[in-house]
Parts: sequence; structure tokens; C-alpha cells
Amino acid sequence: MEKKRILIVEDDPNNLKLFRDILQYKGYETLEATDGQQAVDMARACRPDLILMDIQLPVMNGIEATRRIKEDEAARDIRIVALTADVMDGDEDRMLEAGCHDYIAKPVHVTEFLKKIARYFAGRGPAVKES
Ligand code: MN
Repeated sequence: MEKKRILIVEDDPNNLKLFRDILQYKGYETLEATDGQQAVDMARACRPDLILMDIQLPVMNGIEATRRIKEDEAARDIRIVALTADVMDGDEDRMLEAGCHDYIAKPVHVTEFLKKIARYFAGRGPAVKES
């Protein structure tokens, strides 16, 4: 079975390493972006199966990066799951509004995190929004 590819967008090196390690351990292929612009470029160029999107990012935040990916004909059908760590109210709503399908709160609970990711590939994740 071909490996599913997940683009991890995360600027914190410790979080990035954690996500990379647990996803690779579970057999996913991982791609990495550390700022919002890079995320937009890689979504288009690499067409991953899923994007995990941090919100606070250099160059361009995750909300704007999500909007741009959703505006891009070549990338808009890629599902995006927001990684929210922020105490700021409304970030989850803003990410869903921008086009994310779901969000996962950081710090992540590893088992729950992997369960949620697996659901996307078993067809039991939230349906892709019609646009
Ligand atoms: Mn961040």
C-alpha cells in the first residue's frame, strides 16, 4: 500500500520533531514547512494527502496560508487540519472559516492525535466541504 504523505507546517523545532517522529513511526511519509509561504508553495508543488497547519507561523500565519491554499485550484482539495495551541479565543473558528476541516489542540495527546489522523485515511474524517 502506498504511503500517505502528510505535510507538517510547524515552526517550533520540538513540535516539528514530535509530529515527524510519531507520524513516521506510524508509517506516514512526512513533508515539512516552517513558515506559511512555504506551506502554500509545498501544498501546490507536492500535493500531500493531508496538511497539519500551525497557526502562529513566520512570514504568513496559518490562517492566511490556509486561505491561499483553498483559493488555489491546484491545492484546494487537500484537507487541512489546524494545530491550535493558542490561548486566544476564536482561533479555531478562524481556521475553520479559512477552510480547515478540523483542528487538533496542542500539546497533542499522541494516541488521540494518531486516531484522528487515521480517520482521515479511513474515510471517517469530516467530509470535504463543497466549494
Ligand atoms: Mn508556531
